[in-house]
Amino acid sequence: MRSFVYTAHPARVLFGAGTLAELPAEVNRLGRTRAFVLTTPELAEPAARATSLLGPLAAGVFDGVAMHTPVEVTESALGSLRELDADCLVSIGGGSATGLGKALAARTGLPQIAVPTTYAGSEVTPVLGETAAGAKTTRSSPDLVPRTVVYDVELTVGLPVALSVTSGINAMAHAVEALYAPQANPIIDGYALQSIRWLAAALPRIVARSDDLDARADALAGAWLAGTCLGSVGMGLHHKLCHVLGGSFDLPHAETHTVVLPHAMAFNATAARDAMHRIADALGTPDAPTGMYDLIAQLGGPTSLAELGLAEAELGRAAELATATPYPNPRPVTADGVLALLADAWQGNRPTPCGPQPRPDIRPLTDQVVASFAKAPDPRVGRLLGDLVRHLHEFVADNDVTEAEWLFAIDFLTRTGQLCGPSRQEFILLSDTLGVSSVVDVLTNSRSPDTTPSAVLGPFYVDGPPVVPHGSDIARGLPGTPLWADIRVTDPDWRPVDGAVVDVWQSNDDGFYDVQLPDLDGPVLRARLHTDADGALRFWSILPSEYPIPSDGPVGQMLRATGRHPYRAPHLHFMIMATGYRRLVTQLFVAGGAYLDSDAVFGVKDDLIVPFERATGPTPDGREIDGDWCRVEFTFHIAPE
Ligand code: NAD
Repeated sequence: MRSFVYTAHPARVLFGAGTLAELPAEVNRLGRTRAFVLTTPELAEPAARATSLLGPLAAGVFDGVAMHTPVEVTESALGSLRELDADCLVSIGGGSATGLGKALAARTGLPQIAVPTTYAGSEVTPVLGETAAGAKTTRSSPDLVPRTVVYDVELTVGLPVALSVTSGINAMAHAVEALYAPQANPIIDGYALQSIRWLAAALPRIVARSDDLDARADALAGAWLAGTCLGSVGMGLHHKLCHVLGGSFDLPHAETHTVVLPHAMAFNATAARDAMHRIADALGTPDAPTGMYDLIAQLGGPTSLAELGLAEAELGRAAELATATPYPNPRPVTADGVLALLADAWQGNRPTPCGPQPRPDIRPLTDQVVASFAKAPDPRVGRLLGDLVRHLHEFVADNDVTEAEWLFAIDFLTRTGQLCGPSRQEFILLSDTLGVSSVVDVLTNSRSPDTTPSAVLGPFYVDGPPVVPHGSDIARGLPGTPLWADIRVTDPDWRPVDGAVVDVWQSNDDGFYDVQLPDLDGPVLRARLHTDADGALRFWSILPSEYPIPSDGPVGQMLRATGRHPYRAPHLHFMIMATGYRRLVTQLFVAGGAYLDSDAVFGVKDDLIVPFERATGPTPDGREIDGDWCRVEFTFHIAPE
């Protein structure tokens, strides 16, 4: 079980095409009347449109947004804000515009509406990075999260293709590092993987056709999820490096993320194997770091720090700065390790994961095998086999199953089959102890709440048990506490089912079924009875006790290898058949009996745990008993066909 803390950052999000038109309503919604619009010259057109849409709600525009939020720009914008007497902020642009909005919100407490036009993701994070005197510092506060985010896919259509690629990879970097963050949790994992999937599929489509609105929508939604990851869990070495390279060497933000990401992934690959497998799956590649590098190269993105203008001589200082203070990262961060990473990134080398060879891509082989079933005359057969093969191949690949392990598995199954015969069904036992029988049983038979739950058949049923009259003792004198069973069979509305065929079977006082005891003379502790007009039947037996399932074969070997006990909770088996009704196979468990919460075959269900009450004195049918006896009364409700 995974325990975790998840902190959500509430924001109102509008997502769609043309949502910019909602700006006036959103300003009104915040109860504000003087919006200060922050943007860049590149976004003059949407900013002018926003101002015109806002009409009297627009207090003025500041178009001097700069990357990495320099404090002098913030101070200048703050001056204008005060002059204009603005009471809310509307940022239109990428992470830089959003960043200025946050910097102003931090200084004034004004609410911000963010209209993101890149894939930076900053609009859903509580983080603000600011640069002063050549150094970038970050702070985080829930108050910095924009109150409203207006995602207008149409505004991203003009984002140049090269910037779309780097911005999209910047978003993926948030998702990648979220998957191995110390605070990683299943909610954020889900966001991260979906974000990687969406962006990896959308970016090539945007490169092919930059006005593909569907691809733009997927990329923007992926960026939103990635930003949510960034805002929820801590980032590692990759973000630290980009922070240093941007803040201290003035490298462009998204481009730097794009170059560094595959190398940071390769650095962490051996220490975050599971995350890398999941990222590789989401990317649709066999290996995550090289898959990311290949995607970037295919998209035409930058692949070297040299091409971003970093001098080779600066690498040592960058490595020093990135390792000056400790921070969480899956693989310990050392100056030498980071320098080697940076040297690779500077040259633009395709990374080699620092671990074992990347996993070969088995998908074509899997697809080939699955396709071979496509023409099965019975489509259900084709589907079942295809799905089985997919799961089996994935199981082998995910666990890197070795040849020796697979041969062991084959030998295990061979021995399981060899043990099967008229009195031993090791395969049913295997299915039972793996819980598969219970899953099939639940899905097939337990879908109606007003009928008695079913339970697994087990390996000891024998067809055609001896037919006996009511009141018979099916224990035929075997030792044990006598048990009087008073059973009724009805439909879901309690109407008696006359003439139902009820097979009952159980183990003896030592926990053995008759088929396990070849010296016994004929069937014992198993019988067939028929219900009367009241749906009733009665018989004597003995109180069932817990017993171990056979553990001298492969199933026992599996139980020992996993530290499991072989015991079944005490129970009686029933199979009820009646014309016009569905067959019910089930068991009644002795309330208070042993192993009810750890039954070896996972067969116990709460509704099937019933009192087997101790009694003394006269018996219901006058049978003379010396000492204690027990009684169980139960009404089975069976489902009409
Ligand atoms: P950006 O906002 O600096 O934009 C880059 C350039 O693209 C600018 O010239 C801008 O005018 C232009 N542009 C943006 N959208 C456009 C569009 N739709 N059409 C045409 N041109 C467009 O770049 P960015 O990568 O979005 O943001 C980078 C900044 O955001 C950095 O300062 C980074 O630190 C910060 N950031 C912060 C967080 C956070 O959570 N605090 C997260 C991510 C990024």
